[in-house]
Amino acid sequence: MSAATNITDLLAAGRDDAPAIAAPDRPALTHAELRRLAADTVARLNRLGIGRNDPVAIVLPNGPEMATAFVAIACGATTAPLNPAYRADEFDFYLGDLAARALVVERGSQSPAIAVAQARGVPIVELVADPSGPAGAFVLEGAAMPGGGAHGPADSDDVALVLHTSGTTSRPKMVPLRHRNVCASARNIRVALGLTAADRCLNIMPLFHIHGLIAAVLSSLGAGGSVFCAPGFNALRFFAQLSEARPTWYTAVPTMHQAILARADRNREAIAAAPLRLIRSSSASLPPQVMRALEETFSVPVIESYGMTEAAHQMASNPLPPRPRKPGTVGVAAGPEVAIMAEAGAALLPPGETGEVVIRGDNVTSGYAANPDANAKAFTDGWFRTGDQGVIDADGYLTITGRLKELINRGGEKISPREVDEVLMDHPAVDQALTFSMPHDKLGEEVAAVVVLAAGQTATEAELRAFVSQRLADFKVPRRVLFLDEIPKGATGKLQRIGLAQRLGLTA
Ligand code: AMP
Repeated sequence: MSAATNITDLLAAGRDDAPAIAAPDRPALTHAELRRLAADTVARLNRLGIGRNDPVAIVLPNGPEMATAFVAIACGATTAPLNPAYRADEFDFYLGDLAARALVVERGSQSPAIAVAQARGVPIVELVADPSGPAGAFVLEGAAMPGGGAHGPADSDDVALVLHTSGTTSRPKMVPLRHRNVCASARNIRVALGLTAADRCLNIMPLFHIHGLIAAVLSSLGAGGSVFCAPGFNALRFFAQLSEARPTWYTAVPTMHQAILARADRNREAIAAAPLRLIRSSSASLPPQVMRALEETFSVPVIESYGMTEAAHQMASNPLPPRPRKPGTVGVAAGPEVAIMAEAGAALLPPGETGEVVIRGDNVTSGYAANPDANAKAFTDGWFRTGDQGVIDADGYLTITGRLKELINRGGEKISPREVDEVLMDHPAVDQALTFSMPHDKLGEEVAAVVVLAAGQTATEAELRAFVSQRLADFKVPRRVLFLDEIPKGATGKLQRIGLAQRLGLTA
């Protein structure tokens, strides 16, 4: 198998007649057809006046055309997929920040991005799909514009993908990922999961986020395998999709796994009839209880991995059997070098000591765009500082103990919200729990938690606080426990600790 360093070469892996992209009620697009689509798209972009390293914003619904638009456009320009759910103000920020040379939308799109692009003078390019043709086949239509980057296929140092980090407190940072970065990450994921041409991924992740783009789409294509592109995640449809797609694996964030588990009992037959090889979880910490329940329900290994936009996704991963998975850890370095650095200074710490997780490798961005301050803070001695706090054990397994900015600082005592989550999750009445920092006039910060109760269960705030205080020191016990029907999530389905106190109007 090749060690491709650009997407055009990565796409060479699949057999001509093997499926590459699949979707509900459509014939699959083969690897040969995908290669032709990529070559045609580069030629079409060049005729429109769009060339290498020109940023092309893409606003498409989740599905096969979003997957093929990403890989095909990246072969000749820079892709910038944007969340279709954004409002006009958000599109205005992103199109401006990207200095987008064009906006790609599907023909007939009602997206507010169109009016924003027109007001900014950003040309619209229409993606015209053939709903009765193979999954993901399209042509681009638009008016030619003058100028533009170099023609022909992009090479390894060209920027394939630009994403913004989902910062909740500060202005989003722009992360350029070169072809060699995304190809290295796709290869790292392929190796970690042992992906081959026989594998098919069921993609339920949004394709404007690094997880779905690289872990589902690019890793599968680089293995010569295929991706079944669902129109996003819907727990009600998941089991029917399993039956139709016949995947060997899927990858998701923990909240999706929990929604799937909640419906698993009444879908036992579908699970038995469509056996998987593995399930992958990434982008947020997977509670060990959920991992156990998933392994029991699907009778497959659940592989928790650790990813980040700036790393083109994967940094560490639990290994496949027979090597052990360690629940509560994100596994071992799986591509880049992973180390722990003292939070102040640049000393690398030995196993067992807690500090900032730092990474170094081919998959890591060379730096945020137009943001020297952020780069000065993010890179130390060639290591990229993840902003996550962790510890590596004697076997090389990394545990994420918190996100540095999420750590609750209660009058100088540092508390990892995850530790409290895990205790709350052990209470039989608790289905989901999220611990976060709440402002406090004397201590600076205080511990609070929101809880979703399991169906038909009851518990009081006092009971849950007493339960936690049996297991953790007093200073870690949430001062407030709120009960919600659902924990607010960000656009990618992640639970968001930061800003939660403010959103809930909480102060101690
Ligand atoms: P993103 O750039 O949206 O992929 O978010 C990256 C961040 O998600 C990381 O820096 C971590 O804080 C968090 N993250 C990703 N994977 C995991 C995991 N398996 N466990 C805990 N946190 C994770």
